[in-house]
Amino acid sequence: MAAARVTAAIALGGNLGDPPATLATALHRLAAHPGISITACSPLYRSTAIGPEGQPDYANAVILISTLLPALPLLDLLQQLENEAGRLRTVRWGARTLDLDLLLFGDENISHPRLQVPHPEMTQRQFVMRPLHDIAPDGTLPDGRAFSAITASLPDSGLAIWPDPRWPSLDL
Ligand code: ATP
Ligand code: CA
Ligand code: CA
Repeated sequence: MAAARVTAAIALGGNLGDPPATLATALHRLAAHPGISITACSPLYRSTAIGPEGQPDYANAVILISTLLPALPLLDLLQQLENEAGRLRTVRWGARTLDLDLLLFGDENISHPRLQVPHPEMTQRQFVMRPLHDIAPDGTLPDGRAFSAITASLPDSGLAIWPDPRWPSLDL
């Protein structure tokens, strides 16, 4: 029997080093994985950092993947890619080279010590909801709420497109 494919949404973010290059590298590493196909890439956005003040702006994007991996092995892979990008875990919400959050995994609700899906903060964050809505305009959360309604309800936090020729440079 063939393993089930699941559509998952992943948020990419980073604000140290060369964020567009770091995000593009992470995208290509995910695309090269045998159990993952990238099915959609949002534009790259620039956002003001949340958390400790005085941090550089973030680059943010959201992608959709079709995957054969179960959720926890997918989280392991995301954390491995964060580590490869030189991420150090020090201050909560502090500056980082790469942050990969698993937003959605099919229509599953997952509550595990290492993994909460849907990502608990996603509906509060314009830098997540806007790119997600860009690539899934008719999408909904497992509880039925539409991405369009959530996105429209969020205050404008000055999110802007970050034009960079290295993103996404991927043939889907
Ligand atoms: P936030 O989760 O508010 O965006 P953060 O991304 O800065 O904050 P991290 O330090 O990257 O938080 O992650 C802390 C822990 O969150 C990770 O070790 C991971 O096990 C856990 N985690 C729980 N749910 C998720 C998820 N949906 N995606 C990624 N990590 C998650
Ligand atoms: Ca995060
Ligand atoms: Ca994270």
